Amino acid sequence: MAASLPLQAITFDLDDTLWDNHGVMVATETGHYAWLDRELAAWRLTRGETASPTFAERFPLASFEQRRRSLARAHPLRRGDFTWLRERALTQMLGEYGLDPAAAERWARAAMAQFMALRHRVEPHPEAEPLLTQLGRHYRLASITNGNVDVSRLALGRHFPVAIAAGEMLAPKPDPRPFLAALARLGASPARSLHVGDSWREDVEPARRLGMRVAWISPHLDDLPMPPGIHRLDHVRELPALLRRLGQPVPG
Ligand SMILES: [Mg+2]
Repeated sequence: MAASLPLQAITFDLDDTLWDNHGVMVATETGHYAWLDRELAAWRLTRGETASPTFAERFPLASFEQRRRSLARAHPLRRGDFTWLRERALTQMLGEYGLDPAAAERWARAAMAQFMALRHRVEPHPEAEPLLTQLGRHYRLASITNGNVDVSRLALGRHFPVAIAAGEMLAPKPDPRPFLAALARLGASPARSLHVGDSWREDVEPARRLGMRVAWISPHLDDLPMPPGIHRLDHVRELPALLRRLGQPVPG
């Protein structure tokens, strides 16, 4: 493969790129809701109130999800700001459950703190740490996520001088703005940058449209022919080999 323009920057998606997200999300979703249900019932009992039905009996987990979807439809600009949608939905439901507005807000905030604590129990692929250490010696690195993991709360965060939370900037991928923001802050042009991500729609297409090269993490897809500039990998650990094939330096 012919060497191309030297790469200066590599941007990384987080969820399902540097770790498997599914198990963490399930544990986070059920865990924080169960915490809220339990703690709220105990609090009501100490106030001499009845805790029957409990919050989760009145509002099963599925109704919480429904509430977030309808809030997202009612507030399209906020549709990617999952943290806001969650807290707002909980506050509404807690109000309907009978809490006064101040208590509803307080309990929604407390449940979100639980949510965020559980959400950050992600386990990066064991190869991620040495990979980022290695690549960081030569390339400028950034993370770009639509999710609500704050990468600076993880040990891996120190590898990313630039970390973009696209949902909170109200421009979730595939919007090009989070990519442009990352590249501007890294001082790199799209043509000299590579994006690494697992979603065709949210990572590959928008990065490619900007003229970035792309490593698409998509396991179990036998070698489908890829359009120019897009390279399919089974796993992020294959990134150094890809860089070598592209004629790019891989620091030792
Ligand atoms: Mg992802």
